[in-house]
Amino acid sequence: MDLFNPLDISNEEPKTEASGTEKVKCLIVGSGPAGYTAAIYAARANLSPVLYTGLQMGGQLTTTTEVDNYPGFPEGVSGPDLMEHFRKQASRFGTDIRFGIAVKADFSGSVHRLTFDDGKEVAADTVIIATGATARYLGIDAETRYAGMGVSACATCDGFFYRGKDVAVVGGGDTAAEEATYLAGLCNKVYMVVRRNVLRASKAMQERVLKTSNIEILWEHQAIDLYGENGVEGVVLVKKKGTPAEEIVRVKIDGFFLAIGHTPNSEVFRDFVTTNENGYIITIPGTSKTNVPGVFAAGDVQDPVYRQAITAAGSGCMAAIDAERYLIEKQ
Ligand code: NDP
Repeated sequence: MDLFNPLDISNEEPKTEASGTEKVKCLIVGSGPAGYTAAIYAARANLSPVLYTGLQMGGQLTTTTEVDNYPGFPEGVSGPDLMEHFRKQASRFGTDIRFGIAVKADFSGSVHRLTFDDGKEVAADTVIIATGATARYLGIDAETRYAGMGVSACATCDGFFYRGKDVAVVGGGDTAAEEATYLAGLCNKVYMVVRRNVLRASKAMQERVLKTSNIEILWEHQAIDLYGENGVEGVVLVKKKGTPAEEIVRVKIDGFFLAIGHTPNSEVFRDFVTTNENGYIITIPGTSKTNVPGVFAAGDVQDPVYRQAITAAGSGCMAAIDAERYLIEKQ
């Protein structure tokens, strides 16, 4: 059943302004689940969307292996395959997909302008920001050496592969606490590697962690290396770094999870679009609308809480519908 009724906005080719700048109805930035879903809905509503992929075509899911929690794939699907399905579906309805990174935004007028890394400027009646977020890593060499071989920044995506095994989660915030408790339900033992002697997580999350018998907090520990032959077999930690009691500790683990925060990719838009103190774009609750009329945000760039492919896709759909209604009201 098609719940989305294409309304009467004609499907014209992109126009050019007198200045030579290309002018489009709907410009989507980002090619994760939010961006491609917005494109599918916008294309089917005759908004002739132009989508710029960003640096990592397909978004964060292309760095994960198996995706078992995306509905519609009872046997699971690999992250890259899933994103290829998204891309093909967006393409089938005529989305103009282009490689490029937005480097400058100007949302000061009634027509919005974005400049891309090749220098091209595109003017648009509506912009959907779906640039996602980037997981933070510690910056140690071992993270790249063991990428896809025991290092992950998403317990919900990859935790299942560590059933019955021992893992470490780095971080002491709400994400780390949530991921540690999630992993504790699957794994034999979860070490939380916390650099200070306190957790940053909320009281409720702290209590949950402390009450979980198979989570052990390694206070004042910092990971400096990983070891193992064909994958992670252990982590090297410094305890009480920089004090007389400093000590090197080796802990046997099979999986190493980073949970030290995400950086929303909103920097280019921050002069115009309101963000919270962590840089997440603020949308009007229950909508994808930002503070700028005609500019919408979807997916992880505006979601510090759920951050799932399915919620990102849902919000991409909302953004396309909001963009379409905005254009109808403006006519
Ligand atoms: P936070 O910034 O809150 O926490 C990051 C954690 O990682 C901190 O404990 C920090 O340590 C640690 N850390 C950062 N850098 C390093 C490093 N280089 N080495 C070791 N440890 C490091 O990020 P979160 O992702 O946890 O949360 C982001 C926001 O999202 C928060 O506002 C949070 O409340 C919210 N959130 C809400 C959830 C919910 O409501 N269910 C779930 C998840 C997140 P230190 O404390 O020493 O700085």
